[in-house]
Amino acid sequence: MALSGLQIFKVLPKTNCKDCGYATCMAFALQLAAGKAELGACPHLAPEVAATLAEVSAPAVRRVEFGPASAPLVIGEDTVLYRHEKRFEHKPVLAARLDDSTSDADVGRVMRTLRDQSFERVGDVLRIGAVVVASCDAATLAERSRRVVEDTACAVILQSDDAAALRAAAEGLSGHRPLLWGAARDGFEAIAEIAVDHALPLVVKGSSLDVLAELGRRCLGMGLAQVVLDPLVATLRDALTAQVLLRRAAVRDRDKNLGFPIIASPYLLPGGALLKTVFAAVLIAKYAGIVVVDDLDPGHVLPLLALSQGLYTDPQRPMMVDEGLYPIGDPGPASPVLLTTNFSLTYYTVAGEIENSKVPAWLLVMDVEGQSVLTAWAAGKFVPEAIGPFVTRSGVAERVSRKQLIIPGYVANIRNELEEELDGWEVVVGAREAADIPRFLKTRAEAGR
Ligand code: SF4
Repeated sequence: MALSGLQIFKVLPKTNCKDCGYATCMAFALQLAAGKAELGACPHLAPEVAATLAEVSAPAVRRVEFGPASAPLVIGEDTVLYRHEKRFEHKPVLAARLDDSTSDADVGRVMRTLRDQSFERVGDVLRIGAVVVASCDAATLAERSRRVVEDTACAVILQSDDAAALRAAAEGLSGHRPLLWGAARDGFEAIAEIAVDHALPLVVKGSSLDVLAELGRRCLGMGLAQVVLDPLVATLRDALTAQVLLRRAAVRDRDKNLGFPIIASPYLLPGGALLKTVFAAVLIAKYAGIVVVDDLDPGHVLPLLALSQGLYTDPQRPMMVDEGLYPIGDPGPASPVLLTTNFSLTYYTVAGEIENSKVPAWLLVMDVEGQSVLTAWAAGKFVPEAIGPFVTRSGVAERVSRKQLIIPGYVANIRNELEEELDGWEVVVGAREAADIPRFLKTRAEAGR
């Protein structure tokens, strides 16, 4: 049962020393109760009080870690139902799948795809992070899981109803920390004991919340805190309902038996490849921690990775790049100079279109606290009196022979005023949309401007 802010306040030192970063102990207590402050921020708690409060400030959804020790995948640790309340913590892991119906030739094709397929988006490299290796045959399970470890950087999820096969495969992956998937109500102990013996995370599966809660309770009773829930479902409606109810049970009811990340299998739902991609997107939006797909078409994988990236950014902290002068395509003194803001999406879109133009250029990126061009202009941050000093301190004038600054078309209205701010510079209004930048630059290059 969660404690209220008042209940927490009663056990705090009440000195209002501010060492936690909050003005009063009451303010800290309220934030702690809301899951928005870290318990460790108060250095003055008695150990027994700290232990009690650790319980209440623990994330509603427990942290689960699996994969190689050098680069483990982390899921869970969520504390809220809605992203705007705080943030979602760890991007869902997209997992490919190999099972007994996968031919050896297809295994090779999947391995190559997992090795070679990655996408760079707003500064992040996005890729499939794990492989479900499913088989009831011990030799197949062990051989394919070893191959995933040797041939790719992916984490392994071992899936089998055969406890002996799971144990043998897990023991062959020592140091790689596979996630075990298979503990149902029947035969629970045999598989859970493997997780206990090797300190591995475990997926429990059940077709109702009651069964999942029972299995969660039994895991906790065995000392297994790293658990993932598989709500066995047959339709998108059932999957969505189960995932929402599980998150509500964890966050609102603080049900510890259900306070674990969820694994979703949209590939099992009826529908074609595109529809299953849409199903996967829905389940990513509603709390899936791991999403298993059997379709590695980049046209389907990239949207899911991009969706996860977008949802799991901190809404209170815009993604941004450093302020500065960025050379794109080996520019020289006569190359054009373009200006934009340091919102990551804006920067990478503009930089990408300059690259597409094949016209080498200088890109001046101004720190406006991660806002896009129009937002920053409306907030009074991307205005002539701020841009002028930035251009001067950037040192761009020493790098070019032509003092000509191309500003985004959306802020054409600041052109004259900016020219007054920038002594000796000509200010040119550029393209409004990033997609028009290549044509804009090529036309000017051909005209010798
Ligand atoms: S650091 Fe602890 S004692 Fe000091 S104000 Fe914060 S909660 Fe109160």
